Amino acid sequence: MSFTFTPTNASYKEVNEPCDFPGCVDGNRCGYCDDGEQTDRVCEAPTLNLANSNARGILMALGKEPVESGQWEVNELGDARQRVLLAKNKAAVRGCALRDASESGGPGTGQCKVIVGGYTDAQVFDRLCRLDDVLAWGQEHDSPVQWA
Ligand SMILES: [Zn+2]
Repeated sequence: MSFTFTPTNASYKEVNEPCDFPGCVDGNRCGYCDDGEQTDRVCEAPTLNLANSNARGILMALGKEPVESGQWEVNELGDARQRVLLAKNKAAVRGCALRDASESGGPGTGQCKVIVGGYTDAQVFDRLCRLDDVLAWGQEHDSPVQWA
């Protein structure tokens, strides 16, 4: 599961591209396409898609309740961008979003294998920069920014 941060007023367009599924050739199509072309729905605005746990960490770093869906109204975007700037400049603010990678269980342990991906400070910093691009687009286009 994931959250996508998206300006609500952004429009989408469909873009046709050659199918890039391995082994998809004339006479042996992949099953995802009929004719060697795939159609992607592309947002005109920047968006940011994060795994649920990563999105929750980012929201907490910004002082937001880490709920599964929400929205910054246009008049809240300036404050949200200030919080992003603060988080980008203070490692302690980003700290709540960090997570160590871990692995447990697996063959011979009697437990199923569980792998938890980490979330490093560099990754959190990068996602904050990309979220700021989404928020800036919302400000420039009078568009709320939602996550869901
Ligand atoms: Zn294909």
